[in-house]
Amino acid sequence: MTEKKKINLNRVPIPKQKPLIRRGNFNEVALGYAEEQAIEEANRCIQCKKAGCKEGCPVNVDIPEFIKAIGEGDMPEAVRILKSKNSLAGICGRVCPQEIQCEMTCNLAKKGAPIAIGRLERYVADWERAHPLVSENQKGNCISKDKKVAVVGSGPGGLTCAADLAKLGYQVTILEALHVAGGVLMYGIPEFRLPKDIVQGEIDYVKSLGVEIKLDHVIGKIATVDEILEDGYNAVFLAPGAGAPMFLNIPGENLSNIYSANEFLTRTNLMKAYLFPEYDTPIKVGRKVAVFGGGNVAMDSSRCALRLGAEEVYIIYRRSRVEMPARREESENAEEEGIIFQLLTNPKRFIGDEQGRVKAVECYEMELGEPDESGRRRPIPKPGTEFIIEIDTAIVALGTRPNPIIPSTTKGLELTRWGTIKTDEATGRTSKEKVWCGGDMATGAATVISAMGAGKRAAADIDAYLQGKS
Ligand code: FAD
Ligand code: SF4
Repeated sequence: MTEKKKINLNRVPIPKQKPLIRRGNFNEVALGYAEEQAIEEANRCIQCKKAGCKEGCPVNVDIPEFIKAIGEGDMPEAVRILKSKNSLAGICGRVCPQEIQCEMTCNLAKKGAPIAIGRLERYVADWERAHPLVSENQKGNCISKDKKVAVVGSGPGGLTCAADLAKLGYQVTILEALHVAGGVLMYGIPEFRLPKDIVQGEIDYVKSLGVEIKLDHVIGKIATVDEILEDGYNAVFLAPGAGAPMFLNIPGENLSNIYSANEFLTRTNLMKAYLFPEYDTPIKVGRKVAVFGGGNVAMDSSRCALRLGAEEVYIIYRRSRVEMPARREESENAEEEGIIFQLLTNPKRFIGDEQGRVKAVECYEMELGEPDESGRRRPIPKPGTEFIIEIDTAIVALGTRPNPIIPSTTKGLELTRWGTIKTDEATGRTSKEKVWCGGDMATGAATVISAMGAGKRAAADIDAYLQGKS
């Protein structure tokens, strides 16, 4: 009789920098598994016949198979399995919300802690970085095809679509507006959550597949989508993200030292304000900072402000903790570092000093009513609860919407009422012949993995179209 495997219901913990130390530096917070820890965690996996984890992965990674390879210590095989479906594994392993995807559907979650799939993914990707010869074998042996595809935007959606098309043999050019490739992965998510050399390593991998990246190319200004097609490209995939910030629209919002999170994070990350004095990027971080919003962007902004020297940093959010859209791990990390959560609170107006700088924000308390159309309980102001918080910097992190530059310069692109480009969800096709779209530009601000999933689906459909199969 074979002995039944005893299931360990607890995860192998991941080592992290201690809160009091990490709040003073921009180094990565989570340090990653060592080999023996990764093998131990992988060996908790019971290799289910009906593996729930697979259903939760938007890019269809063969999760039990790559975990099995780790458990057996066969890292090259784990790399092969993972990278055949995911070209940006080191990024996904760090920032994807696995807790509401593959880990939520892992069968072990019904009894105890699900397998730490994200941490294992990160381990494999980092192992490969340390053993670069393996990646040489990942390029595939596709026959090159005499067709050109242009990809607009080099965020996760654009990079994934470009990589998949290059693996299929197409000549792919990415046209990127900024002077650096990577989209939000480079200019938005801070170094302490996603080190930029990891992102650059994965961009270099995409380039090694033959993808050309042209920087400083703002489509809609330097050339239109129609001009790209006239230039001989057989298809265009649009992945320009949703980078236009939303504001509170309350009195005093034009005072000095009130930033959109986009601007604050771009100055911090892309323009490297955190490397002062090596980079002398202007940024004002006072002693007391208020960040408005409850998502990942708000957490990142507050934790950057703390690391840039602020003494008191508030997250001001109008709902309760349960409704907060930020990843739980990140809001916990923020709180451990000393960020003050001022929940069920909404700003009413900013108050300025004689020089036109913000000096306080007046807020009122909220309570939760019935669920609204988003399914979350509607926040309702409590009359007569106004109070003042003194601040010297404010960061508005309410979300973003698509920039209209491409739709307004492209004839025949149908839009939704939110200004996103209308697409067929299964294929990414737009209303315009030869033009596909995916990522935040099609869905509104979402996640890295959803942009990657859209890039993958569009690549498959572009291939079918160019091969005359659809
Ligand atoms: P983007 O990443 O926005 O990339 C679009 C690219 O297109 C940019 O490089 C832009 O410069 C370029 N572009 C724009 N317009 C043009 C043009 N006209 N011509 C040429 N190029 C153009 N998601 C998670 O899953 N986990 C997280 O932890 C997480 N944290 C986040 C933290 C922050 C601060 C932010 C801002 C977002 C976060 N997200 C997170 C969301 C995630 O980053 C986005 O959903 C994802 O990056 C969208 O990918 P994308 O490819 O559609 O667009
Ligand atoms: Fe392993 Fe969980 Fe997937 Fe089962 S569902 S194969 S335990 S990761």
